[in-house]
Amino acid sequence: MDVTALPSFGVLDRADGRAWSAVLGPILRDTHGVEKSSKFRLHLIDSLMSQLVDELKRHRLPEFVIYTAPDRRDVTRLAFLSALVAHRAERLVQAAELAAAALAALVQGSLQPSAVSARALFELGVVCWDSHTRMLDSWREVHGSRSRIRAESSSGEAAVYRLLWETRMGSRFYGPEHGWPLAKSILTRLDRLVKQVPDARETYDMLCDTTHPNLEAQALLWRTDYITVGEDRAIRFAPGRSNSRVKLDIVESIRLSLMLILPFTRDLWWIAADITNACDITASTKTDPLGLPTRTGRNDPCSCGSGETTRHCTHPEPVPLRD
Ligand SMILES: [Zn+2]
Repeated sequence: MDVTALPSFGVLDRADGRAWSAVLGPILRDTHGVEKSSKFRLHLIDSLMSQLVDELKRHRLPEFVIYTAPDRRDVTRLAFLSALVAHRAERLVQAAELAAAALAALVQGSLQPSAVSARALFELGVVCWDSHTRMLDSWREVHGSRSRIRAESSSGEAAVYRLLWETRMGSRFYGPEHGWPLAKSILTRLDRLVKQVPDARETYDMLCDTTHPNLEAQALLWRTDYITVGEDRAIRFAPGRSNSRVKLDIVESIRLSLMLILPFTRDLWWIAADITNACDITASTKTDPLGLPTRTGRNDPCSCGSGETTRHCTHPEPVPLRD
């Protein structure tokens, strides 16, 4: 799948070559937040957006995904790998579409659609973060041992597989009576995140408030200047224009969401490459359409992305993302 053909990719990648901070700077200026808030660092959005674009282009996305039903305990190794790279691809495409929608709406001045997209992106970030920490804890127990990786990667009962399967398949569309998992509440996951990132609670509450239907009665989204009409004070009714700090909150939430999502997608690929190397899976007509990493030649760069040649590589965990 060619990710650069996605309309959202074109939005994020900015064909005009302008940096996002340059585009958003004038839009945010009237919120009085860009200069005054020492916490708000607009240039950070540029590095996060370019890291999202890079991550989307880094590896070919799958053409097909192996489908596994609830009763499949003996998953094949290819199905296990497909779950890893499909999960990565799904999260990246979702992140791209939601970030692009939030930013495009913000630029247009449509703050509520922007906040709705930013909230969905943030919820995606919370789910990714929650899955990420548990996935890494499990994988560190097998990483470094060929035999354990081989055993783990062909078991539908493996902790990483169960975690991904339940996260991807959890919904209310299909009942648990047929073996499908129910989606976990976002608030349960958020509670865990807030212990590590206390600001996450305020960010989420703001996005929830901003997406509430009666919000504009408080003149929060379309607030511009105050005037007097006779004896009364009035606020200019100006849909599409706003000096609300909600604009800052939306950009800040996009930044935080990408900080949660991108490291997860990199580690999904890392685990998939760890498996293909330990299990000597080389490129074939089976692995290609599934978009899997494969074991490369001894003197070629390792598919885990470490930059080492395959014969020297120990497939180290990717370094933490910096903004
Ligand atoms: Zn490697």
